[in-house]
Amino acid sequence: MIPYGKQSISQADIDSVVEVLHSDYLTQGPQVPLFEASVANYCSADYAVAVNSATSALHIACLALGLSEGDVLWTSPNTFVASANCALYCGADVDFVDINLDLYTMCVHALAQKLKEAKARGCLPKIVIPVHFAGQSCDMKRIHALSLEYGFSIIEDAAHAIGGQYRGSPIGGCQFSDITVFSFHPVKIITTAEGGLATTNQPGLAEKMQLLRSHGVTRDAQLMSEAEGPWVYQQVDLGFNYRMTEVQAALGVSQMMRLNEFIEKRTFFAKRYDDLLQGLPLKLPMQHSETESAFHLYPILIQPELVTLSRAGVFKQLRDRGVGVNVHYIPVHTQPYYQQRGFAEGDFPNAESYYHQTISIPVFHAMTIEDQDQVISVLKQILQ
Ligand SMILES: *Cc1c(COP(=O)(O)O)cnc(C)c1O
Repeated sequence: MIPYGKQSISQADIDSVVEVLHSDYLTQGPQVPLFEASVANYCSADYAVAVNSATSALHIACLALGLSEGDVLWTSPNTFVASANCALYCGADVDFVDINLDLYTMCVHALAQKLKEAKARGCLPKIVIPVHFAGQSCDMKRIHALSLEYGFSIIEDAAHAIGGQYRGSPIGGCQFSDITVFSFHPVKIITTAEGGLATTNQPGLAEKMQLLRSHGVTRDAQLMSEAEGPWVYQQVDLGFNYRMTEVQAALGVSQMMRLNEFIEKRTFFAKRYDDLLQGLPLKLPMQHSETESAFHLYPILIQPELVTLSRAGVFKQLRDRGVGVNVHYIPVHTQPYYQQRGFAEGDFPNAESYYHQTISIPVFHAMTIEDQDQVISVLKQILQ
């Protein structure tokens, strides 16, 4: 089966992990700061805080921005559940902004309209989380302009998007947001097995996230009330154990050196799909002129008026013929847990209609031309 996504682990990656295993530190050593510096440097961000998953990063990002009970967070329904769950961890409420049908990311018009209505009702969001779906940046400049008008904070969920660019700058630089979050789960662009990281340019937010990832405990004299001696640490906040290990960070440092190569490969395969899938009854993913996608995903939309098989039928045939396709995403508001919270089918029609047509076909850096030709040929057999 050709998977829809897969990590690539080189001998150099393995060597760097083995080296850490032989070293003094398996956690809280030099590799985590090295990895943070590597990502911060790549993205031109002032600070990077590595943690054990993007889910953890989203949680402490929300806490650092002061999200709590009585607040509301808005995100896209076309995302993994973690982008919404982070609000609930903080005791806040979640709502969604529907997607546009060009890029499948948060629709800026829908956001502007919803903000206007929320202002009138006195229930503006405290945080908005745009999700860089498939690796392509949202319209951050306009979302940022709205944040100035309506006074909300922005966390970019860039779990799909390390290595991508927006307006000529790497995603993660936070020019138009407070915090950007990356995931290093094996299906994402680079991996640390499990892992996540938050970038920011605001020292206060970085400090708060560093504290929260490690029990709210500090040894920094400036953060403590009064130190009795050099052994003293103080818990000054209620934090968690969300630390990344040295083993993970060493893998991350090594993978970062391969990031540009990964993006080149993914871009190559995506462009090749763009060319070779022309003429099939599909809607291919559009690229906005201001973005360079990291191509985490290549979602194709089955055009129901042109294809006799249903989406499920096409999906099954692809899987039966060795193409490990997937679907991204079941709209979060249609999940049973969110339905219990009051959301219903029909609430965000664009995310739902997109969902009913979409299939993510394989794109990953270790894919071969032969793999891709196989995917294309199977698709042609099924659709023609
Ligand atoms: C994968 C993913 C996450 C969660 O990442 P983890 O590192 O697995 O916690 C969050 N948001 C989006 C959009 C994702 O794809």
